[in-house]
Amino acid sequence: MTRKLYVKSYGCQMNVYDSNRMADLLAPEGYVETAAPDDADLIILNTCHIREKAAEKVYSELGRMRQLKDDAAQEGRRVTVAVAGCVAQAEGQEIIRRAPVVDLVVGPQSYHKLPDLLARNERQETGIIETEFPVEDKFDFLPAPTKAATRARGVTAFVTVQEGCDKFCTFCVVPYTRGAEISRPVEKILEEVRNLADAGVREVTLIGQNVNAYHGEGFGRTFTLGQFLRRVAEVPGIARLRYTTSHPRDVDDDLIAVHRDLPQLSPQLHLPVQSGSDRILGAMNRRHTRADYLRTIERLRTARPDLALTSDFIVGFPAETEADFADTLRIVDEVGYAGAFSFKYSPRPGTPGANMSAQVPDEVKSERLARLQAAINRNAATFNARCRGITFDVLLEKPGRLPGQLTGRSPYLQPVQVMAPSHLIGTMASVTITEIGTNSLFGVLAERPRIGPNSAQPLEALGA
Ligand code: SF4
Repeated sequence: MTRKLYVKSYGCQMNVYDSNRMADLLAPEGYVETAAPDDADLIILNTCHIREKAAEKVYSELGRMRQLKDDAAQEGRRVTVAVAGCVAQAEGQEIIRRAPVVDLVVGPQSYHKLPDLLARNERQETGIIETEFPVEDKFDFLPAPTKAATRARGVTAFVTVQEGCDKFCTFCVVPYTRGAEISRPVEKILEEVRNLADAGVREVTLIGQNVNAYHGEGFGRTFTLGQFLRRVAEVPGIARLRYTTSHPRDVDDDLIAVHRDLPQLSPQLHLPVQSGSDRILGAMNRRHTRADYLRTIERLRTARPDLALTSDFIVGFPAETEADFADTLRIVDEVGYAGAFSFKYSPRPGTPGANMSAQVPDEVKSERLARLQAAINRNAATFNARCRGITFDVLLEKPGRLPGQLTGRSPYLQPVQVMAPSHLIGTMASVTITEIGTNSLFGVLAERPRIGPNSAQPLEALGA
């Protein structure tokens, strides 16, 4: 019997990956994905706890789901509502108490149990909660996607290689919701990447909450992320590699060397600094200083001069002064970021930051955030402007908004729009950038052949 599954994914790429794996897991149970919740038999909200009022947003979405479920019941249809992800892990029982529309709650380490949980729900069991960190590895229970499912998801894919975090930054809930750091075994990931490549995937992004803390076992030894990237690059068909999200402390010599040596590795790195002030970095328990961070970037840029760097910033962490904030503004200009995410600090219950005195007033945070975003945007515009006239490799991913247009990504992760025939989707094309838009670069197919994967000419032109 075919049933319809609607999965709504919030937050980071790890949730997107988990949502896909849930769909793969439920496909043998007869569930086919649908893009709208209205006709779904099973609705899964795969939630994120990282942003402010995350739980409240989920409860308000659940209000809409209650209406959908009531409407379906009037038509004689039964709809099951599940909450997964980090809000599920953090709130557990509270979700069932506040939102009786929810049939089951499942944490990010337990979703491989969904078929069992759904069977219990079908037996009329109510208020099912599964948020323990199980001893078994969920990846051992997740089936590989079919080739058709992979193809439908496009020519780029995320692959989770590492989960959890042992760093305990004082603002962050991840160590509590995702648990301790674990790395998946090398051979299992390589098999997953080979299957993706066989189905037409050309770009793989290795993901983890602390991806460069990767220390997976394989071939009788332990691999660092840098060593592992060299193995992934050997998989036939994979033209481009990325990884995210990294911690500055875990950037080691191996990782720096692959940025120099590995043509498949994109010259782009998301390396969150959070603050430019040593005092605030200490209070955040980031375990690195501003100088450590800048030294790491210098070494990375020596290895790969055109490396595009992006970051995350938090403004208004408890006790942040104007002088601390000025240090943050300075680091934005010193690094010359190609882009960054920036947020006002908001306390997360259960984290040390939430109990710190000297919380910064909201109007101060807002004013600092506006200044920070102006600095980030100025640097991003400078970076993009340097791309005008440059020819680089663009992985053409899908049709663009205009007829005859395709959209893809540059080696630096910028969206690129180019007029090109649709049979080029899935290929790496040489594109010369002719125009810089607000959110995209615009280019034309270049006449001369590309010089290698993820190449750009001249490389030095983009160095900070
Ligand atoms: S390293 Fe990242 S995931 Fe870990 S606690 Fe810090 S911010 Fe959270």
